[in-house]
Amino acid sequence: MLSSRMVSEVEKVYAGLDEHILQTTSTTGMKCSNLCNACCRKTDIEASAIEFIPLAAWLYENGEIDDFMIRLDKSDETGHCPLFLPEAWKEGKGGCLHYAKRGLVCRLFGFGYRLDREGIAELVTCKVLKEFSPELVSKARQLGYKTPDSVPLFRNYSMQLFSIDPDLAIQQLPINKAIRLAIEKLYFQYSLDTDPLDASNKLR
Ligand code: SF4
Ligand code: SF4
Repeated sequence: MLSSRMVSEVEKVYAGLDEHILQTTSTTGMKCSNLCNACCRKTDIEASAIEFIPLAAWLYENGEIDDFMIRLDKSDETGHCPLFLPEAWKEGKGGCLHYAKRGLVCRLFGFGYRLDREGIAELVTCKVLKEFSPELVSKARQLGYKTPDSVPLFRNYSMQLFSIDPDLAIQQLPINKAIRLAIEKLYFQYSLDTDPLDASNKLR
């Protein structure tokens, strides 16, 4: 069931993850290149719907759902994430329309780890960091080898979202479809008893 509880629980997972990534990057020194948005420009990003429940709630709360659906329709044609803002990136403002409401995959991209068969935490990073910060990437890799329990693992954070709502967390979809599903689920929940645009106080 979708509810204010779900929104706050997902946001709590994200707060923990953001703090965890900060701890790791403070140790390794690894950080994104200025104005880079290469990961957002990809057209094959996958995510689960639950990752975007906070975004869907924000759109309803702020009366932006109709405008956003137009963006979503356009993104279905291009394959880009509907939040991607190439024009903002050119102006030095980053490339995400709602950076604070981005998904789990967005937060982990470049900085997440996966466990290999031997239980070693393997860094999953991007070409940009590998090319421009090879020493820092090497340091981040070493951290995963030496202290696998200390680094942000994709699996751990995916499982935290799964425990909140398995149905919305289980399926990996193209990111635009995941966002659309999050919006539709929220709309359905509200339409059971009231207009979704009048239901924002349910989310608090
Ligand atoms: S994670 Fe990599 S590709 Fe994405 S913004 Fe950072 S440096 Fe660029
Ligand atoms: S939600 Fe934002 S950070 Fe994530 S892929 Fe889309 S534009 Fe990039």
